[in-house]
Amino acid sequence: MFSNSLIELDRAHLVHPVASYRTHETLGVRVLASASGATLTDATGKQLIDGFAGLWCVNAGYGHDSIVEAAAKQMRELPYATGYFGLGSEPAIRLAAELADRAPGDLNHVYFTLGGSDAVDSTVRFIRYYWNARGKPNKDQFISIEQGYHGSSTVGAGLTALPAFHAGFGLPFDWQHKIPSHYAYRNPAGTDPQAIIAASVAALKQKIEQLGAERIAAFYAEPIQGSGGVLVPPKGWMKAMREVCRTFDILFVADEVITGFGRTGPLFACSEEEIVPDLLTVAKGLTSGYVPMGALFMSEHVYQTIAEAAGASAVGHGYTYSAHPVSAAVGLEVLRLYETGLLENGRRAGARLMAGLESLRDHPLVGDVRGRGMLAAVELVVDKERKTPLPAAADPARRIFDRAWHNGLIIRAFASGVLGYAPPLCCTDSDIDAIIERTRQTLDETL
Ligand code: PLP
Repeated sequence: MFSNSLIELDRAHLVHPVASYRTHETLGVRVLASASGATLTDATGKQLIDGFAGLWCVNAGYGHDSIVEAAAKQMRELPYATGYFGLGSEPAIRLAAELADRAPGDLNHVYFTLGGSDAVDSTVRFIRYYWNARGKPNKDQFISIEQGYHGSSTVGAGLTALPAFHAGFGLPFDWQHKIPSHYAYRNPAGTDPQAIIAASVAALKQKIEQLGAERIAAFYAEPIQGSGGVLVPPKGWMKAMREVCRTFDILFVADEVITGFGRTGPLFACSEEEIVPDLLTVAKGLTSGYVPMGALFMSEHVYQTIAEAAGASAVGHGYTYSAHPVSAAVGLEVLRLYETGLLENGRRAGARLMAGLESLRDHPLVGDVRGRGMLAAVELVVDKERKTPLPAAADPARRIFDRAWHNGLIIRAFASGVLGYAPPLCCTDSDIDAIIERTRQTLDETL
């Protein structure tokens, strides 16, 4: 049963991620208690459709006994195995091999982390190692994109361009540079896909010219910018940016922490973009949120350059929980589920979700609808003609989140008045229809 003492204990002791501590203390926590499929039940017994798969991660949905069994079996047999001292475990080796087999091109080498932030963080370290190995130690500047999110670790947060992740910290990120986002709905270049691609290519080239290609280590891009508001670049954008990087000998890192594992349709969004990045990061859907795990993929040339330079010396990068066998066992089972119906269901449900959200365009508050597969957003405006955002002072994110919750729906309500959708891939037609109906009801009540 719902317990007031739990709220008090939370208020007194649990520091929540990305929260206003004072507001949270005032409002109190909403405790989630159980879940099945795409439905969550809170501690009062209220049922809600999880339109955001937790935090864009529970791609498989809740309550898969086979995932629980895979974890329990591995815990009984071997709950922990280090990768240090030349040791390893069967699930970690098998998962690396299965992933390498499915990853685009020659991304054959997999380094397991605990989540997305440390996967991104690890790429920064490996990239610096790579350029030192290639005799180009001056390549120590990194470029990413405004509205991009790459985690909140101390190093990786430098690549994150969302102001909320920098305010108040004052950490120096002078090695970090940004170019404008492709954000089609509000792009000064207009909405034409080719014009948007040309503007991004020009911005990247200009930044390279300004800094000097001989100083730039890498460029980071999400196939779809998630936390920036689900910003979908035109088809061909990733390919064009990848080519610029190749031309100037700059490593291209695709951050697929959100887009990986069926969120946009295939296992990797880069496959449908027909590109092979030099490095690629994943997390979230890798274990579908049942246990923590992330990974980075290195292409042959990156791995071989580092391996060759290190020779008999250790490459000094590793965690106690790198390649954790329980997480790997879960990853293997989740991968099996993706390939025995989940990806297919996600594609079907994704088409229904997009059609449903498109049908909201007639609502006076809906300025834009965008997305791909089971990753989508609705951008709210007070004036469609002028694309005027909802007034920030009215705290639309909290108001809309609360209304949606009241209506039995969890969605991400960004401060900018953008509603984010990333439901589990297991959603049924009626789950999707309920997401749309409850969104419309929420919008009507927000007017
Ligand atoms: N990269 C991207 C694109 C993300 O969306 C996220 C998290 O949302 C991260 C990195 C960080 O992942 P994590 O929260 O698992 O550390």
